[in-house]
Amino acid sequence: MRYAQERPGLKLHLVDEVNERLMLTALCGRTVERWRLGLNLPMGMACGRCLRVARAANPTPREYIVL
Ligand SMILES: [Zn+2]
Repeated sequence: MRYAQERPGLKLHLVDEVNERLMLTALCGRTVERWRLGLNLPMGMACGRCLRVARAANPTPREYIVL
C-alpha cells in the first residue's frame, strides 16, 4: 500500500501494489492512468475516503504488526 497522487498538489490516495507496481484504482475507487508516488507530503492531504476504506478493512492495525 502506497500513498500516491494524480498530479502535484492533489490529494494523496492509498493505492495497493502488486508485484511492485501500483494498481490503477485507489481504495476509494479513483482510477487514473498513472500515479505519482506521494513522498514527503503532509498527511493532511490524504484522501478521507481512502483512509475510511483502509480503516474499515483493518480496524485494529496494531494486531497485524509482526516484528
Ligand atoms: Zn482516495
